[in-house]
Amino acid sequence: MKKIIGILMMVIVLIAMASGLAYAGTKITQSDIDEGLNFCQEYPVRLALDGTEITFGEKDVPPVIIKERTLIPARALFEAMGGIVAWDNNTQSVNIKLDNTVVQLVIGSDVAVVNGVDQPLDVPAMILDPDGDYYGSTMIPVRFTAEALGCEVSWEDSTRSVLATSPKTEEPVIEPNEPSTEPTDGNTDTPTDDDSGMLDMIHTAAKDKLVVIDIGHGGKDCGSIGHQGQTDQLYEKDLNLPIGLKLNEYLKSAGVKTLLTRDQDVYLTLDERTTIANNNGATLFVSVHNNSNESSTPHGTEVLYNSKVNAEGKTENDLYGIASKTIAANVQDEMVSICGTYDRGERSSPSLYVLKHTVMPAIIVEGAFLSNESDLKMLRTSEFIDNYAYAVAKGIIKSLNDAYK
Ligand SMILES: [Zn+2]
Repeated sequence: MKKIIGILMMVIVLIAMASGLAYAGTKITQSDIDEGLNFCQEYPVRLALDGTEITFGEKDVPPVIIKERTLIPARALFEAMGGIVAWDNNTQSVNIKLDNTVVQLVIGSDVAVVNGVDQPLDVPAMILDPDGDYYGSTMIPVRFTAEALGCEVSWEDSTRSVLATSPKTEEPVIEPNEPSTEPTDGNTDTPTDDDSGMLDMIHTAAKDKLVVIDIGHGGKDCGSIGHQGQTDQLYEKDLNLPIGLKLNEYLKSAGVKTLLTRDQDVYLTLDERTTIANNNGATLFVSVHNNSNESSTPHGTEVLYNSKVNAEGKTENDLYGIASKTIAANVQDEMVSICGTYDRGERSSPSLYVLKHTVMPAIIVEGAFLSNESDLKMLRTSEFIDNYAYAVAKGIIKSLNDAYK
């Protein structure tokens, strides 16, 4: 549906552009767009962040210069900076949040909204699909957006590159336990599995549904330990924390109401965790974990659930309109597709404490194994932490949007 609306919007935008109605200030015509696309196909434009080239997904339209303004696919650059890029289907807008700044770009509009204040745009955000394969890219003006978010942007003519520099902030880099000095050569692919490359906003009917994010272990409870006793020892609790915090950001950016059981390195009993969810009337409980085994062979992702029936024989669907098993399957699918992990499937685990003692639909995500060498290497990358959080957010949003239309 979103794709159809996207295509429809693109057609409307292009018709408006061709007729010169859309942009009173700088008239952009279809021939301006064609000219830009053709020229940039012959002379590609590159994009670098802090000296590292940004690569785009296979389906992405590469950077294009239209009327001397460079447009890039919305997600690649700003997610590399740790920002959040979300698509709002209702307003047909791209919303980018970095630190305390939010930029909203409506498709085809020559006004951007930066922290609630309107600012004029020379060239609007637009959806382009030059090869007509219906996998259009949402393109946004890079200089305006990056500068609004506090970045410096320059153009290097010799390499035809847009050079962006991250804002200077004191963002702590989370290096669990002993930081590894090895380059993280594991998993550098950015997720490109969907048409827009962004999270969907939550339906209005699901906006009052509370999702409790339970970040596994903490404090004296380290959870699983990778490379125990070695200099690069890694505690599961230190992985779960940044994943859970990022998941919270992703869900909030999509309009989901959330509550965390912990947001720092503290110990909580399992009973305290389930009580938080039960007492706050949560609709969904998601527990963030990573796995371990005595053998170094098992690897990959599994999502655990418990299909509950209450004392009166009412199912989760009867009581909440949504079921643990469906949520588990959606999250499992997104994890495997976005993180590229081995698919261990979703599993019914009715005896696990937090699944048994929460009254609402609940899942435990076991992202990857600290006891497996290749999983452990991947777990140490910031890409995996981000992909894990993004995938779970996507699975949860899909589940809520399917249940509450
Ligand atoms: Zn755990």
